[in-house]
Amino acid sequence: MDDRILDGKKVAAAIRGEVAGRVAELGKRGVVPRLDAVLVGDDPASRVYVGSKARTCAKLGMASETHHLSGDAPQEEVEALVDRLNADPEVDGILVQLPLPDHLDTHAVLDRIDPAKDVDGFHPVNTGLLQQGRPALVPCTPAGIMEMLRREGIPIEGRRAVVVGRSDIVGKPMAMLLLHAHATVTLCHSRTRDLAGVTREADILVAAAGRLAIIGPEHVKEGAVVIDVGIHRITDRSEVERLFPGDAARMERFESKGSVLAGDVDFVRVAPLASRITPVPGGVGPLTIAMLMANTVRAAAARRGH
Ligand code: NAD
Repeated sequence: MDDRILDGKKVAAAIRGEVAGRVAELGKRGVVPRLDAVLVGDDPASRVYVGSKARTCAKLGMASETHHLSGDAPQEEVEALVDRLNADPEVDGILVQLPLPDHLDTHAVLDRIDPAKDVDGFHPVNTGLLQQGRPALVPCTPAGIMEMLRREGIPIEGRRAVVVGRSDIVGKPMAMLLLHAHATVTLCHSRTRDLAGVTREADILVAAAGRLAIIGPEHVKEGAVVIDVGIHRITDRSEVERLFPGDAARMERFESKGSVLAGDVDFVRVAPLASRITPVPGGVGPLTIAMLMANTVRAAAARRGH
């Protein structure tokens, strides 16, 4: 593989290996870290995500349970379940799979989670701690990106970092983590004027806008490190041909599966400019679940005094 490509699978495997070691250590003291997932409704993508989180727990020697409520479950029922998991001493991490059905108040559900068990790092207490630079449980995707930058020896201090996207899940915590690592950070969003002018300043560019191939070569300074958070499923052949011209392997995957994944970065046209770049798939994606496991073990150790 081109050594400019940042291999998220490799970094995720290293993180999972360390988590498994920590799980074994805790096991000797009678602690089995446990992650419980709350799944409301039958969204197929959510089912897949929850299933793969449970499988990863099992592989690492951790316990997990999925609590499946019907798609029309009232707010009180979801909150009562969260209360029960908060009170259960065996449960170390609580994950509410998003998005919740429209009739539910997502903030109210997430605010109900005990911050010590908030392994997604979405509770306002954890968000506040992160802002103050004393993070407890940090949102998994940006935490995973920081791990990758650190493990790949990419310097951050004093560099210009630009984050595109200001969601509570990715953009904002990403900007905070980069800031605490002493980057000079700019946060862009849908109302940013002259996006390319801003992103071209970046030594480290994180694309998390949720817009297919929005970052092209005109957005990237030569030598920049480019991190692509976006995940898009392309089902249109002409779009695959446009974004990945001459990529026989990707076209073959498209033929066999009917779709391929791509990111917020126009990879083919941006990669020649970048000093390091994450692919989609195989870049940021694998880091998220690995960090969820790391957060659960961290929560277990902290709450149980180990
Ligand atoms: P979101 O929709 O909540 O937020 C998108 C942000 O991008 C918003 O702040 C918006 O202002 C900004 N934005 C939208 N259009 C823009 C434009 N044209 N120019 C500049 N900024 C623009 O999305 P999210 O939850 O933060 O997710 C972003 C992407 O990352 C999605 O593709 C999502 O699927 C992916 N994602 C991946 C992982 C992973 O594990 N790799 C995890 C979470 C999200």
